[in-house]
Amino acid sequence: MSTCLVTGGAGFLGSHLCDELLRRGHRVICVDNLETGSLANIAHIRRPEFVHLNVDIIEPYEVAEPVDVVYHLASPASPIDYLRLPLHTLKVGSYGTHHTLGLAKNHRARFLLASTSEVYGDPQVHPQPETYWGHVNPIGPRGVYDEAKRYAEALTMAYHRQQGVDTAIIRIFNTYGPRMRPHDGRAIPTFLRQALQDRPITVFGDGSQTRSFCFVSDLVRGMIALAESGYHHPVNVGNPNEFTLLELAEAVVAVTGSRSEIVFEALPTDDPQVRQPDIALAREVLGWEPEVELREGLRRTIDEAGVEALVGMPK
Ligand code: NAD
Repeated sequence: MSTCLVTGGAGFLGSHLCDELLRRGHRVICVDNLETGSLANIAHIRRPEFVHLNVDIIEPYEVAEPVDVVYHLASPASPIDYLRLPLHTLKVGSYGTHHTLGLAKNHRARFLLASTSEVYGDPQVHPQPETYWGHVNPIGPRGVYDEAKRYAEALTMAYHRQQGVDTAIIRIFNTYGPRMRPHDGRAIPTFLRQALQDRPITVFGDGSQTRSFCFVSDLVRGMIALAESGYHHPVNVGNPNEFTLLELAEAVVAVTGSRSEIVFEALPTDDPQVRQPDIALAREVLGWEPEVELREGLRRTIDEAGVEALVGMPK
């Protein structure tokens, strides 16, 4: 049994990670100031092996008990959040990552950074392998998120090379599942909310831009496998099956049996045209690959979250 500290543990991915770590018999310290997360995501966890600390990691912080593994997920992640919180996003990626790496160093813990496919920007290479350095607009509205994550990756490698911290970097591609907020602006919760209410499904642009969607249980399995490996360089974890946004909308209509029509809206600034992970490295070093295909994942999202949660009011 290990003690795992999860920053962002009351968020969408973090709360599923806490569940799985507990299921595997570990102790979990969840550090989350509920900026974009919610107590509702962890309210079902009532056991002595779990503790939630309401701490803002932008300020220095410590925990009293020994920690073996640090999973650093705290950061606004949805465009709606980081466009609303640009300075917070930069601070959590910089100060927050410094403080969390410092904590991992003090505890001699393994440290895993939750990075993102957004470090590739609007990619000129397709699918994206870890060796591709990206094509990011630093001064566009999305730059606060993309550059914060690129900085956090550089910082993680510096703590590894200069301070000897045992670090890992996971580059997460679009992940979905229960506990996504219905109004967080990401494609799957938006389409599900609209379809379940028979309202028009709003696709940006002409819907030809592509994404690759990973179900949350696959992602969490890959994240824990990486933390438990001795690997230090970035590893892509995502589902390589690529869909256009229009195909996604059609899949959501089919799975929900909705009467919604599909309508088109203006494309947001710097919205990437394509997004598909090359997961050869994850297969090789982790023996990992996704198992849940899109329609099954959509059905599981509806079954596990429930229709009421998926059509909920804005937070
Ligand atoms: P989320 O917004 O649901 O979770 C982020 C959590 O971090 C929230 O609970 C929030 O309250 C917490 N947090 C934010 N600032 C904090 C601070 N200063 N101190 C303490 N806690 C703070 O987002 P998510 O989708 O679960 O994403 C989790 C991580 O995974 C993020 O780092 C994100 O960049 C990364 N990621 C997610 C996806 C995805 O598809 N969901 C894709 C790529 C990368």
